Amino acid sequence: DFDHVVEALLNTPVDLDSLRPDSVLEDSWIKEAVIRSGMKFRWAKLGESRERPNRDAQRRPPADPALLVSRPPVVTIMGHVDHGKTTLLDSLRKSQLVATEAGGITQHIGAFLVQLPTGERITFLDTPGHAAFSSMRARGAHATDIVVLVVAADDGVMNQTVESIQHAKNAKVPIIVAVNKCDKPQADPQWVKQELLAHGVVCEEFGGDVQAIHISALKGDNLQALAEATVALAEVLELKADPGGPVEAVLIESRTDKGKGPVTTVIVQRGTLRRGCVLVAGRCWAKVRFLFDENGHAVLEAAPSAVVQVVGWKELPSAGETVLEVESEQRAREVVEWRSHQAEQHKLLGEQSAIELKQQRHLEEYWREREPLAHLSWRQRRAALYRADKIRFSMRPSERTESDEPGLPLVIKGDVDGSVKTLLNILDGYDAQDECRLDVIHFGVGDVSENDVNMAATFGGSVYGFNVAASRGVTQLAARRGVALQLHRVIYQLVEQLRHELSSKLPPQR
Ligand code: GDP
Repeated sequence: DFDHVVEALLNTPVDLDSLRPDSVLEDSWIKEAVIRSGMKFRWAKLGESRERPNRDAQRRPPADPALLVSRPPVVTIMGHVDHGKTTLLDSLRKSQLVATEAGGITQHIGAFLVQLPTGERITFLDTPGHAAFSSMRARGAHATDIVVLVVAADDGVMNQTVESIQHAKNAKVPIIVAVNKCDKPQADPQWVKQELLAHGVVCEEFGGDVQAIHISALKGDNLQALAEATVALAEVLELKADPGGPVEAVLIESRTDKGKGPVTTVIVQRGTLRRGCVLVAGRCWAKVRFLFDENGHAVLEAAPSAVVQVVGWKELPSAGETVLEVESEQRAREVVEWRSHQAEQHKLLGEQSAIELKQQRHLEEYWREREPLAHLSWRQRRAALYRADKIRFSMRPSERTESDEPGLPLVIKGDVDGSVKTLLNILDGYDAQDECRLDVIHFGVGDVSENDVNMAATFGGSVYGFNVAASRGVTQLAARRGVALQLHRVIYQLVEQLRHELSSKLPPQR
């Protein structure tokens, strides 16, 4: 089909002068000629780079507010090392296991959901520290709605506490302070909150809007209050999402599982993820085979803010990538192909794209093959030919002397400069495998003239015209002198006729 031809052309490009690739591809008759003639047709871009149409997948524009529904907050726990982040996550998770059901084997999939007795839900990212947070931010993925800042009440504000505050502020994500280790005798929550003031974190009792909850992650004290504070803040933030339409998600974890192959954990941000959805993330794609929750249970669907493990990736995408649903596997391949192409282009030295380099190589080979005129540039050669309009010219100059070889002398006429060049280009790609040489003895723009016919007659050749006419006098002259006059308006018919004539010149099969 045409795409294959175009692909083939793109992969074996060699210069053919001023033939602009864009115009070539737009002209359906050229396409037909290429397909039907089966001739080698070479071309290359000149000067400006060929723009590939953007086939990327993108996030959708914001949804109609009427379609939005509330969604649970997505929370990241941050803070200084040893202040109790992991312990807090473990306690929160455990509280869930007891609260929900027995039997679930909790797996670490990068996040988990906490449900309050009142029914509200919170999604906790369970990769503590800012590494995950900043890598996601660097990719422009805003996965977090709220930061829970853990500060040990016996240790106070430390470097990474300050860094965490900075990260949250840069990302414009509100903070809740979890003053941890309040079970310790030397704990001094008041002092911690005063210290935080110096870093722009103003807790409620100092007139600010930052909630601070005194907890013990180890003992599980006051975790309920922390969860409630989170839900209260989420209400203020009015977190909403559109559960319909193509899925948009963020990838928070990816790894290769021995049994399942490439698996990822995603947080759904928009739409509803289901089995069978086709997803793209970076340069990978998936047809969703299974969805699992953090208890390893298969789930049928995942709404906004839900965390699910996705099985069905062809290759493993990276954490932090945006995950987008596309309409078909074909579309997914197209997006991945486009992204890979882009990546390749960026990788290449500055301006020169992969294609350009390839073309240049082909061009050099092309010239090596055509030795006698190789000292001239193709452009010079063509220009010379146009000037020396009436000079006999063989497409294969090096073979000219072997006159016993069958050959077909040709006069080519076209309606415009472009069509003549196109014809010459097609003929130039003619491969003499059929042992019949093709000699263009004259070419030009305009109707077939007496001169054209006489020239063809002198060399025993034919006249081929594309989109041109011949007067009655010229037609009669051609008939008298035994010159075949081939006038065509469809290029592939012209080419077909030419092939036909060429094969008739071949010696009979031995
Ligand atoms: P992370 O580095 O922030 O993840 O801190 P961890 O969760 O690993 O905790 C560091 C240490 O502090 C561990 O020995 C925990 O047992 C201890 N720890 C964490 N939370 C509490 C708490 O609320 N009270 C007490 N007494 N110790 C805690």
